[in-house]
Amino acid sequence: MISAPEPLVVVTANGLYCPPGDFYVDPWQPVQTAVITHGHGDHLRHGSARYILARPGAGIARQRLGGDREVTPVDYGTRVQLGTTSVSLHPAGHILGSAQVRIEHEGRVWVVSGDYKRQPDPTCAAFEPVECDVFISEATFALPVYRFPETPRVVEEIHRWWMANRERGIASALFCYALGKSQRVLSELRAFTHEPVYVHGAVDSLTGVYRRAGVSMLPTLPVGTEKKTDFRGALILAPPSAAGTPWMRRFGDHATGFCSGWMRVRGDRRRRGYDRGFVISDHADWPALIETCTASRAKKILLTHGYSDALTRYFNERGVEASALQTSYGAED
Ligand SMILES: [Zn+2]
Ligand SMILES: [Zn+2]
Repeated sequence: MISAPEPLVVVTANGLYCPPGDFYVDPWQPVQTAVITHGHGDHLRHGSARYILARPGAGIARQRLGGDREVTPVDYGTRVQLGTTSVSLHPAGHILGSAQVRIEHEGRVWVVSGDYKRQPDPTCAAFEPVECDVFISEATFALPVYRFPETPRVVEEIHRWWMANRERGIASALFCYALGKSQRVLSELRAFTHEPVYVHGAVDSLTGVYRRAGVSMLPTLPVGTEKKTDFRGALILAPPSAAGTPWMRRFGDHATGFCSGWMRVRGDRRRRGYDRGFVISDHADWPALIETCTASRAKKILLTHGYSDALTRYFNERGVEASALQTSYGAED
């Protein structure tokens, strides 16, 4: 009897590990060699000795890790030898520099998707389909209810909401994740206005990284420490962590909105207490997850974060082996 070939990626206490390559993908503990799919906090963690990531994401990584870490940027599609494996990074369409990790070893190919989306995004390279034997996919929004509208339509709604609040003489505070979502909104808003937007410090520094990488966005103004600015009629972008904090007081009367895939479900909108929810996600929705897993032509699909049960069932019913991996990634969007 021929034994099954050894897996190219296994879950360990430190994170997803590739034994023949002796490296980790987005480890949640410090390790020697970390191949990083993108700069969000649950995927890029402090303390590893060496970080290998896609070149467009190098600025984000340096900003988040500080200068003293060894960051090795690699161009998309370029093969790097790690142990006895050949590793390459391919665009994931999630945020600037996001990558899928393709691992080849003795004729077998595994792909770790990281977070990904299929919608157009002017701030990063589009997702590139990569065929493989085993596809490790994220499953953040893997329920049939999650179907995301075209982003330009939603951004137009944001602009209308901002203008309506201005008519009422109040500010518009829009909460978006500081890395990726904020820059995408600032870029897509250019279709409707050229006005500057106020940004929270966390958004400001990452927007600077995006500008240096050549991404076009609306002009931004940092929300200063001085209290004399009149914010009536202004749009302010801030991370969700700023919602309901004393930092918000300077804006006086204001309306609040949240940009997230989670806003697709009404109960979620109500629970979170924002005046408006705008459905913009940097993750794949249900149809995009199915399309992408299918297009990989993988014989086996392994799922990380989120609602893996429904997707596991979907593929098992169609004769494709699928199961969940226990990982420590968050569900931020
Ligand atoms: Zn992410
Ligand atoms: Zn994630």
